[in-house]
Amino acid sequence: MPSRYGPYGGAFVPETLVPALEELERTWKAARRDAGFRRELSRYSRSLGGRPTPLYFAERLSRRAGGAQIWLKREDLVHGGAHKFNNALGQGLLARRMGKPRLIAETGAGQHGVATAMIGAALGLRTEIYMGEVDMERQRPNVLRMQLLGAEVHPVTSGQRTLKDAINAALRDWIANVRTTHYLLGSAVGPHPFPAIVADFQSVIGREIARAATRLWGRPPDLAVACVGGGSNAIGTFHPLLRTRTELLGVEAGGPRGHPTGAASLARGRPGILHGTYSYVLQDRDGEIRDTASISAGLDYAGVGPEHAFLKDSGRARYVAVHDEDALRAFRWLCEDEGIIPALEPSHAIFAAVREARRRPTSHHIVVTLSGRGDKDLEVVGRAIGA
Ligand SMILES: *Cc1c(COP(=O)(O)O)cnc(C)c1O
Repeated sequence: MPSRYGPYGGAFVPETLVPALEELERTWKAARRDAGFRRELSRYSRSLGGRPTPLYFAERLSRRAGGAQIWLKREDLVHGGAHKFNNALGQGLLARRMGKPRLIAETGAGQHGVATAMIGAALGLRTEIYMGEVDMERQRPNVLRMQLLGAEVHPVTSGQRTLKDAINAALRDWIANVRTTHYLLGSAVGPHPFPAIVADFQSVIGREIARAATRLWGRPPDLAVACVGGGSNAIGTFHPLLRTRTELLGVEAGGPRGHPTGAASLARGRPGILHGTYSYVLQDRDGEIRDTASISAGLDYAGVGPEHAFLKDSGRARYVAVHDEDALRAFRWLCEDEGIIPALEPSHAIFAAVREARRRPTSHHIVVTLSGRGDKDLEVVGRAIGA
């Protein structure tokens, strides 16, 4: 497992965290080789998580596009309503294996906080979540969910009081309590070994896609599409397909039309260090992190996982940005054509997939990872469409 992806990745952290990162890497490597750990992971994935998830032919959406077949990888059906469960479960089991009784996590919109609280409860680990004060105000229902699941939610009052500040607060807690505490990082970002571990636990998505594709069509998909915030559902989709001929397309948040950056770190950022890793970052000329914007909280991050930076530079994957307005259109297509209310994050990927389908023959198979369901976004969508 590489600590670097070309020039990207690494671990730019204070000395005090180095032993904890090394212990985490050792534990994870041993766990991967341990049949007992793999059995336990797969038992919880199945019976608590609801895996494997289906690959669904979106027939009416494909007809709307008028070209290639669009298939949906239904991560919206995972326990908690999103792919975040896969990573929270895996890291929760690693924490237990390390004998650490306490989990901490950062959360922006609250989705990762809820997934961590769910796993903390299921595995009997004390759970504390850092969340920006502004986000707590915007995401009341998720704050309540975390509390009902037994987690303590700490409001973060520094900086912009959003996700970036919550990560900093969680890192400070980890430095102070590293012996008893596992920091359950929520995406394929941060210092090594986090990007590799998160990619590993999310790769169940791509493995199931590859298996279903072989059964259905006798070959891998022609194109795989996934939205990119920190990049965990996308890297989990891409990893098992890297050595096939499947084209890979990552979709970032372009923000509202006219916004200078949106949250498209790969499209509009440049290499730099954020939260312990070297990757593409939205920053100004002096290296100050720029303010991001997106209709979907889950994509609203100024950085991106280092492996995506490498896949972009190497050309193995392509990345595009989709604007808020187009994500909202795709959101409604999926509601009206398929009876599925998607989260706003994968709605960006749906829009890009439909655009790709138009240019391709009906014999092509496009798989889009539907990373989560849309219940959490109803208020935002209602406001945006004036309902
Ligand atoms: C958090 C979230 C994302 C973005 O995170 P990644 O790490 O980029 O996958 C995407 N979709 C949903 C539904 C989310 O909750």
